[in-house]
Amino acid sequence: MQVHKFRFLGRLWLSIILTVGLFVTSCGPKTENKSLSVSNALQLCQNDSSPIFESLDQLFLNHQQGLNWLSRLTFETPKRQYQVRYLSRAQLETQASLLLRGELSSQSTAQIDQAFKYKEELRKLAKLKEQTERLEFLECHMGNYYRLGKIPFKSYVDLKNGNTHLEHVVELCSVLRNKPSCLAESRLIRGADFNSMTEKYIKKFEQKFLDPRFKLTSRLEGIECKKTTEGKKLILPVSGTEQDIIAAQTAAQWWSSKTEKFQLEIVSSNSSSAIKIQHIDEGPSHVNMHDRNEINLGPGLASPLIIAHEMGHILGFPDCYFEAWDKDSESFIYIELDPTGSNLMCNINGSAKIPSDYFKQLEASYCD
Ligand SMILES: [Zn+2]
Repeated sequence: MQVHKFRFLGRLWLSIILTVGLFVTSCGPKTENKSLSVSNALQLCQNDSSPIFESLDQLFLNHQQGLNWLSRLTFETPKRQYQVRYLSRAQLETQASLLLRGELSSQSTAQIDQAFKYKEELRKLAKLKEQTERLEFLECHMGNYYRLGKIPFKSYVDLKNGNTHLEHVVELCSVLRNKPSCLAESRLIRGADFNSMTEKYIKKFEQKFLDPRFKLTSRLEGIECKKTTEGKKLILPVSGTEQDIIAAQTAAQWWSSKTEKFQLEIVSSNSSSAIKIQHIDEGPSHVNMHDRNEINLGPGLASPLIIAHEMGHILGFPDCYFEAWDKDSESFIYIELDPTGSNLMCNINGSAKIPSDYFKQLEASYCD
């Protein structure tokens, strides 16, 4: 049943941020005290969930059956453009309290006709539940997301979407050079020079902050590459329950391509060097990018699609979305860095794939 529920969730736009390649290891108020926002967030992380989010959890549990019904009725395609999405506690609490006062709180959706009748509310509930879980996870790692917030991806997206403001260009320049020299350069330029300055800093910004998100970081020891009659094959030893191994084997199909003459094979192994598939009680699925030795699957998120994304982290690919704390809006922002929506490492949706270039990178790293 869980699978149905999250297959439905997987089609909501926020599902694209359900998983994460973590460069931080744990949560707690130990290192960061750089701003009120950081310490507040870490404080919230230490506390139990807020009463309103707890009530939302309960409402979600009450409507599991309705959500299952709905999963068979709906389909949403992801949007395909550069977009900044916002996630704020204040907004989620307002939405949660509205929903808790709404019709769902007194209705059952255990029958399909009721699930259909309340489908809009159920959609909102599923989305809110997912968003609150994500928010709580982000708050727990606030130090990291606060630092990332200093990278001006918002300005980059504005420039890419045609909002060519001088201040955006200066912002991009300022993370590459010092701000006074960027301001000096901007004061000197005129007309056509402004376009070339814009292009120059967009390109430099992409080289430093965007391109690495599409590149394999390093090969992982213990993955063997074999030559076969059909091309190259990587062999990845995995440990987990029988069900998890089967899911991982299905997931490996995303990383196999006839056209690219490349295959990923999952073998069940009890060796200590095998990649462990683990189930965690809360939070999004993730791989710790420092050691890349286990795939942690969030509750109800053991689907092959999610595992295929996490497998990408194990192989060495980062997430190609940007997520950070945005001081201006006092919320977390999320930007998918491949606006086509078709790269599985940027966006988890049923139609996402592994770009052909990724297979070439794997071959160069693991087989040459
Ligand atoms: Zn990820």
